[in-house]
Amino acid sequence: MTVEMLVPCPNCKEKAVMSEVIYEMPFFGEALITTISCANCKYKLNDVIALKENNPKIYKKIIKTKKDMFLKVIRNSNATIKIKEFGLELKPADFSEGFMTNIEGVLNKFENILLQLQKSKLAEKQKKKVLELIEKVKKAKENKIKFTIELIDKSGNSAIIKEKLK
Ligand SMILES: [Zn+2]
Repeated sequence: MTVEMLVPCPNCKEKAVMSEVIYEMPFFGEALITTISCANCKYKLNDVIALKENNPKIYKKIIKTKKDMFLKVIRNSNATIKIKEFGLELKPADFSEGFMTNIEGVLNKFENILLQLQKSKLAEKQKKKVLELIEKVKKAKENKIKFTIELIDKSGNSAIIKEKLK
């Protein structure tokens, strides 16, 4: 069931569409997925909130096989995602968007951020480091290297789960 309503756009204050969908997820319970999208300024915002109270959560998964890539990742906007081996970290302050995806989707998000970073003005040394990281993320996507995904959420609104979403 999806509920849609008009709200003022957080960016340009024009009318934006907010939609809310409730998902039932195993080991997580019901979660509310909120999306705001503005036709005027193209602003988009997603978030995931658990409807029942959850305890603070830390998930740690070692990703080795193709199958691991399909683990579901539910990330609330207040959660941190880390790939320890690469020194990559998605903190709420840097990227405060909630999302629901799989491990591959998380790698794509890191890759997009790195590609953006690559285009910005960087010192030669930093540029080299960014390029190295992009290569690592690419290899990780092809399961050529194993890595550890860590998800830390004090609010308990995030999870990494095995089950398929309904
Ligand atoms: Zn707008």
